[in-house]
Amino acid sequence: MNTQGVVTGINASLVKVKFDGMVRQNEICYLHLGGTQLKSEVIRIKGDQAEVQVFESTKGLRPGDSAHFTGELLSVELGPGLLGQIFDGLQNPLDQIAKETGFFTPRGFEVPKLSRANSWAFTPTTFKKEKLIGGQPLGFVQEKAFKHQIFLPFDCIGTWEILSIAPAGDYHLDQSIGHARGPHGEQRDLFLSFQWPVKRPIQAFMERLAPSKPLITQIRLVDGLFPVAKGGTYCIPGPFGAGKTVLQQLTSRYAEVDVVIIAACGERANEVVETIYEFPKLNDPKTGKSLMERTIIVCNTSSMPVAARESSVYTAVTLAEYYRQQGLDVLLLADSTSRWAQALRERSGRLEEIPGEEAFPAYLESVIAAFYERAGLVRLLDGHLGSVTIGGTVSPAGGNFEEPVTKATLKVVGAFHALSRERSDARKFPAIDPLESWSKYQGVIPPEARAGINQLLHQAKQVEQMMKVVGEEGTSQEDFLLYLKGELFERVYLQQNAFDAVDAACNSERQTFAYNLIKQVIDSPLAPETKDQARALFHQIRQHLLDFNAAPWGSEALKTQVAQLQELLTQEAA
Ligand code: ADP
Ligand code: MG
Repeated sequence: MNTQGVVTGINASLVKVKFDGMVRQNEICYLHLGGTQLKSEVIRIKGDQAEVQVFESTKGLRPGDSAHFTGELLSVELGPGLLGQIFDGLQNPLDQIAKETGFFTPRGFEVPKLSRANSWAFTPTTFKKEKLIGGQPLGFVQEKAFKHQIFLPFDCIGTWEILSIAPAGDYHLDQSIGHARGPHGEQRDLFLSFQWPVKRPIQAFMERLAPSKPLITQIRLVDGLFPVAKGGTYCIPGPFGAGKTVLQQLTSRYAEVDVVIIAACGERANEVVETIYEFPKLNDPKTGKSLMERTIIVCNTSSMPVAARESSVYTAVTLAEYYRQQGLDVLLLADSTSRWAQALRERSGRLEEIPGEEAFPAYLESVIAAFYERAGLVRLLDGHLGSVTIGGTVSPAGGNFEEPVTKATLKVVGAFHALSRERSDARKFPAIDPLESWSKYQGVIPPEARAGINQLLHQAKQVEQMMKVVGEEGTSQEDFLLYLKGELFERVYLQQNAFDAVDAACNSERQTFAYNLIKQVIDSPLAPETKDQARALFHQIRQHLLDFNAAPWGSEALKTQVAQLQELLTQEAA
């Protein structure tokens, strides 16, 4: 018997409901408004009053209206058919809703989260009387390019005995594919999909491992100097126009991961619309098919109710964890986490909680940390590895990194890619500032060499600043060379043209080769006598390296550039 309730107060999307029975934190409650039911989540309980956050507009709701509590937590449906979908924060499939309701979705409208129209060719891999634990496979279906394992649901505690399992064949998500009995005699029908509460991390694996392998993004600046690890976390501040969108698309296409999940929390709806329209047009360089074949987009905008915005990142990370359970490498890009934090602030304000810094709730830091902790490299029950890597953008007002969301994020992430407006204005792309960024992970360039490059870039910057004051004449030849070397590294290694068919992506083998080549230039005993000669020499070197970057890997053109460069270095060696 569900607990019933009565609305006693309404403050925008926050509604007070007096109840009779049992209610637990975060359970779903439906408010009855005429013939429609408004979905909400319990966010605070005081005595016999629950405060619920409604996922839709509460217009027209009045004290005295009735409500019922479901006993279930806010959950997503996990199963085949997730890939390629565009969901809202509550996992409603947007194209399905648009088809059924047109431009304006009526309140209380719900469609199945995963399509019931499709059937899936299921192959069982378990048998009658076998004993399984939650997270072990019952069988599999083929979902796009992946073998999608169908698991004994993760919430099956203890050892379960398979009482029956369906033979190989086509099944809908509503058709049972088996039956199992739990340790206390409880019985359960098995399906191709099951529910999982979004705020609870999926932990059906053997162990967590330290993220130690680089996640190659094919962006030299990232992989070389500020690498991301498989199962690691990173943060990108996103000033408008600094190249966030281009970078997000580049990483989605070229990063060496299996599945990409985009959590788009937009301030302005048009940024989210841009993502929804642009993504399906992108092709996957690995397969030539649409990138959406291995992408899921979870989106919401500031026009959606605060609770829907808050839940979207949890929905996205839960889907990411589910594909990690499949033994895959998953990249979750959350853009922008500041919008999510604003939803937390709005909610906290309505609850009249004691505010922390800039009116964010005092628990902001722990909420942000808990979100990033859901990233990780894990050893699964079958011994395979799977990973979730999280990259989150923040949008600090005025580029001030001292604001609470950025500060809390920087405390927990493993790498920071400081996208800078100044760099993008100077058309230096990717506009990640090498003097501000950092990473704790291991990348393509070994750590000592990385330190050496950082030092070179810093020194070159100092010389450049000094030259602005004292002019070239006042600068020593030695310093001038340092400056030219820094410039060279910046131009031919850090900068990469996203719109060049070859230069857009640089695999790790090529990165290592390119790094060694430039290192050879930097370490060469070059000693041009005058500044003009030095400039001319570096101009020549730069041209060779730019042509090298534009030449396909393994091509004759590339070999020619390398040979010519080496000849030049030999000639010029003092
Ligand atoms: P944001 O999303 O941060 O507002 P965009 O990603 O739309 O910015 O980038 C703005 C413009 O900067 C792009 O239209 C493009 O011309 C240029 N740009 C950004 N990143 C790159 C890149 N990696 N290579 C070349 N051009 C870039
Ligand atoms: Mg953009």
